[in-house]
Amino acid sequence: MITANENFLKLPGSYLFSDIAKKVNAFKEANPDSSIIRLGIGDVTRPLAPACIEAMHRAVNDLTDTQTFHGYGPEQGYRFLTEAIVTNDFLPRGVQLSPDEVFVSDGAKSDTGNIGDILHRNNIVAVTDPVYPVYIDSNVMGGRAGELGADGRWTNLVYLPCTAANNFVPQLPEQRVDMIYLCYPNNPTGTTLTKAQLKVWVDYALENDALILFDAAYEAFIEEQDVPHSIYEIAGARQCAIEFRSFSKTAGFTGVRCGYTVVPKEVTAAAPGGKRIALNALWNRRQCTKFNGASYITQRGAEAVYSEEGKKQVRQTIDYYKNNARTMKQGLEAAGLKVYGAVNSPYIWLQTPQGVSSWQFFDRLLHEVGVVGTPGAGFGPSGEGYLRLTAFGTHEACMEAMKRIKEWLK
Ligand SMILES: *Cc1c(COP(=O)(O)O)cnc(C)c1O
Repeated sequence: MITANENFLKLPGSYLFSDIAKKVNAFKEANPDSSIIRLGIGDVTRPLAPACIEAMHRAVNDLTDTQTFHGYGPEQGYRFLTEAIVTNDFLPRGVQLSPDEVFVSDGAKSDTGNIGDILHRNNIVAVTDPVYPVYIDSNVMGGRAGELGADGRWTNLVYLPCTAANNFVPQLPEQRVDMIYLCYPNNPTGTTLTKAQLKVWVDYALENDALILFDAAYEAFIEEQDVPHSIYEIAGARQCAIEFRSFSKTAGFTGVRCGYTVVPKEVTAAAPGGKRIALNALWNRRQCTKFNGASYITQRGAEAVYSEEGKKQVRQTIDYYKNNARTMKQGLEAAGLKVYGAVNSPYIWLQTPQGVSSWQFFDRLLHEVGVVGTPGAGFGPSGEGYLRLTAFGTHEACMEAMKRIKEWLK
């Protein structure tokens, strides 16, 4: 008898963004003349940097000639890319990595979702709340989450609430945990941790023999001095942290697909017989078995992100989104709303007016203003009372949305 992985059956049926799409479509059908501004889904809209496009065109040409043809590449990624990553993303911040501590992939969603493969099922998992859903759902699939309770929380997960009440800084858990997912700058709240605040977690992990899974997908949006770009800027993190990075939000690669994961050689986990095993070796084994590398064309495109031209062009696009975020933050504050994030992040985390739930505010924003956000409650119980707006739209759309909201709240 073929039996299904029952863990998958525990996952709640509908997906946040399909619920939203249904509501938006129903509204559009009822109001065909309305113009809707979509500031909901976290996908970029600006075209790729010309340096990346040219590099990918050249890479295609390489494949047309037997002399320069590339078939299967190294599962870990081409050296030209892992070296560029080490040299450009880490060295300037005082972080020394070896290229074989970097694993190139098709994106951070895959890696954050797959990392559980190399960790025991009985590890206790902590997640910030609200949260990027991949961390939770992948642990449900892996059998670490327990059951979904009536309060919207999984019985075996440890939730670390991040709300205005604690200034979006998660407090250390009261019970011991083994795996801690941290995402900074945060999706969905757009908030950050200072070096001192992140150090609290590194110290906790070292003292408690825990592993931090640090998602730095939005690193490129950081502008404040005291916000770490990499967890390895914190002393001791090389012993206790894995870091995930992505070219998606940095360089508009959401459709191209490329990211990477850093597993320092010092990071170990307990193994039978009281031994310690290096997670770098396990992740390498996992990737070599289940992954055949990101495409040559993609990796040449990613390499070009680090070229002189590429850096300039990528920076321009990020500045474009950051300018949107600034416009939105100012506009929403001028309209009398309380907002968080938006400074080191493309996300604006808006507090709904007193007594208005996330979904109520979402509905009113859609029906009365024609602006689509994402209800905070969709990211976890502590997201209730908030709504996420993204700065990934066009500048014109952002300005129009702010104009409408200001009029609406007058
Ligand atoms: C967008 C995003 C990613 C990037 O995922 P890719 O698979 O690299 O596109 C990773 N983590 C978070 C929190 C994100 O929002």
